[in-house]
Amino acid sequence: MKLLEYEAKNILRRAGITTPAGVVVASGEAAPTLPFPLPAVVKSQVPTGGRGKLGGVMLVKDEPALTDAIKTISTLKIKGFLPRHLLVEQAIDIGRELYLSLVINRATASIDLIVHPEGGVEVESQDGFFSRSLTGDNAGTVGEALAELFGLEEQSFALADLVEKLFTAFTREDMTLLEINPLVLTKQGELIAGDAKITLDDDAAFRHPDWDFEEKPANANFVSLDENGTIATIANGAGLAMATVDAVTDAGLTPANFLDIGGTATVESITESFHKITEFPEVRAIIINIFGGIVRCDTVATAIVEARRSVPDLPRLIIRLSGTNSEQAAEILARDALSLLPNLTQCIEEAHRA
Ligand code: GDP
Ligand code: MN
Repeated sequence: MKLLEYEAKNILRRAGITTPAGVVVASGEAAPTLPFPLPAVVKSQVPTGGRGKLGGVMLVKDEPALTDAIKTISTLKIKGFLPRHLLVEQAIDIGRELYLSLVINRATASIDLIVHPEGGVEVESQDGFFSRSLTGDNAGTVGEALAELFGLEEQSFALADLVEKLFTAFTREDMTLLEINPLVLTKQGELIAGDAKITLDDDAAFRHPDWDFEEKPANANFVSLDENGTIATIANGAGLAMATVDAVTDAGLTPANFLDIGGTATVESITESFHKITEFPEVRAIIINIFGGIVRCDTVATAIVEARRSVPDLPRLIIRLSGTNSEQAAEILARDALSLLPNLTQCIEEAHRA
C-alpha cells in the first residue's frame, strides 16, 4: 500500500522526524487559516511522484496566491490523478536538497540506506547513489559516513539520529519503501523531510489495527508512456501488462500507457481506466489482455460491457480474455457486438488495422 505524502509525514512525525508545519485541506475547499506564517507551499496529494515538474507544488507568498493555488491544484490532474486533498505547508528555507531512502534488499535480507548528495526533482536521472546496509545498531558509523559524503561534518550526530529513527520507523511500521526527497538542509542547518514516500507491506496489516489511510484510486498502477501513443493497454498482472506493451512496441505501434488492473476487474476500475485512456488524443484502440486465473473472465466481460456504456467516445476495444469462464465471457461480449480474440498476436493484427 502506497501512502500519500501527508500520510507518510504523519508517520515520520510520530517517529520523531522533523517535517514542515502543515495542514491538510480537502480539494476545492476555501483556504484555511494557517497556524503558521506565510510563505507556504501548496502540494497536490496524488499517489504519484514528479508533482513539482507538473505544477502540483506551488510556492505562495500571500493570501490571494494561496487561494488561487488551492483552486488551481484542486482541479489539476497529475498523471491522470485528481487530488482528494492538498497539503499546505510552511515553506522551508532550502539550503541544500539531499536524497535519502530505505529499501529492503532481498538478496542480502537486510535494509539498505540509499543516499545521494544532490536530492530534488532531477535525482532519478543521476549516477552516484551511495548505499549502506543498516543493522539496527550501526546508526553512529552510518551517520559519520553520511556526514563525510555530504560534506556536512558538523551534522554527523543529527544524521546518525535521523538514520536511527528512520530504521526504527521502517521496521516498526512494516515498510517496504521509505523515501525522503528532498531531505532539506535549511539555511539554519536543520534537517527536515521536505517530501516523503512510504509503501507499507500489505501482508503485515494484521499487526497494525491502527492503519487507516485514504482510499487510493483503483488504477494506481496506471503509467502514462506516450501522450501521442495510438494503442492503449489494459492487462492484469505486471508481467502480462509489460508483455502487452512490448508486443505493441515490437509491432511498430506506439503504446500510450501501461496499466496493470491487478486481481480485480470491477465496473468501477474498468470505467476509470477507460476515462483515463480517453484523455490520450491519438489512441485508436484499446487492447484488453486479461488472464482469468483468480478473476473470472465472465466477470471481466460484464465489467467491460457496463463500463463501456458510461464512457463516450471510447476507442475500439480489442479483447483477449483467456482462462476461467472464457466461453461465458465470449457470449456476454457477443451480445454487445464485441468479439473475443484467442491470442495477443491477433489483437496486435487488429490494432494495426485500427
Ligand atoms: P515531487 O516533485 O512530487 O517529488 O514533490 P516535492 O515535494 O519533492 O517538491 C518538488 C520540489 O519543490 C522540491 O525538490 C523543492 O525544490 C521544491 N519545494 C518543495 N517544498 C518547498 C519549500 O517549502 N520551499 C522551497 N523553496 N521549495 C520547495
Ligand atoms: Mn519529492
